[in-house]
Amino acid sequence: MAVEALDVVLPSPLVEIDDERLGAVRLLVKRDDLIHPVVSGNKWRKLRYALRDVEPGTTVLSFGGAFSNHLRALAAWGRYHSLRTVGVVRGEEQPFNDVLAGCVADGMELTYLDRRTYRRKTEPDVVADLRARFAPGLVLPEGGTTVHAVRGCAELVAELNEPFGVIATAVGTGGTLAGLAAGIGPDQRAIGISALRGARSIDAAVDSLHEAALGRRLGNWAIDHERHHGGFARRTAELDTFVDDFAVRHGVRLEWVYVAKLIFAIYAKVAAGEFDDGSTVVAVVTGPALTG
Ligand SMILES: *Cc1c(COP(=O)(O)O)cnc(C)c1O
Repeated sequence: MAVEALDVVLPSPLVEIDDERLGAVRLLVKRDDLIHPVVSGNKWRKLRYALRDVEPGTTVLSFGGAFSNHLRALAAWGRYHSLRTVGVVRGEEQPFNDVLAGCVADGMELTYLDRRTYRRKTEPDVVADLRARFAPGLVLPEGGTTVHAVRGCAELVAELNEPFGVIATAVGTGGTLAGLAAGIGPDQRAIGISALRGARSIDAAVDSLHEAALGRRLGNWAIDHERHHGGFARRTAELDTFVDDFAVRHGVRLEWVYVAKLIFAIYAKVAAGEFDDGSTVVAVVTGPALTG
């Protein structure tokens, strides 16, 4: 379905999770999934400054998997700001799922790259071929993660009106984490829970984003690479049980590709005593459950 409007509701709510399993740790969730019914909170924040000065009529080309919340957000943005959008999708052409159907309904043109070529999507020959075919005025990297994402996601921190020590987010490309780390104060730290297995290069990507956006690296963040439940878009029975249980207790069904892995990890860290008693952790619910 096409997006009906691109009006986002800010600030997104900050909600306390009342759960005896958290002991003396206070958990607040930043419901960025509620800023829009379809467009993921963090994807909108990442596009906000990346596309702000792009002229109507410009072709914007970007990349993502078949369930990419980023492509979905870009398509919606394009429709409402009169941009032509092209989505380069990883893998073979397949029947549309809801995400890709929504992209097309919002006017995005889709093209497919086999997985081998997709992995080489930033190499000159692949880029040149896409440029020749679609003549984009702007090529956005996968996930919409550019230097502008740092500013857009840092703004989330300014919306928080409760004291906290740690802010946590799920990690795909690291753009959201980079923004949160840039936005927090000197006594706070940011942690990322990677939804991918063994994607150690994300740490360097976050450093590069900070160098580009701030002119220096930051030492106030870390990524936990061990809580992926088998890898990207993989799940374990343990994770499913957690999601079901969380829905019963709190009335919120966690998006499982990213958000459930984040919240699961926070509970595990609480149980392991990794947060001080009396401390407050803010978990960013980065987006809605588009991925089933
Ligand atoms: C894209 C996405 C992420 C990952 O964000 P990055 O900035 O790429 O690390 C996390 N959660 C949801 C719901 C997403 O759609």
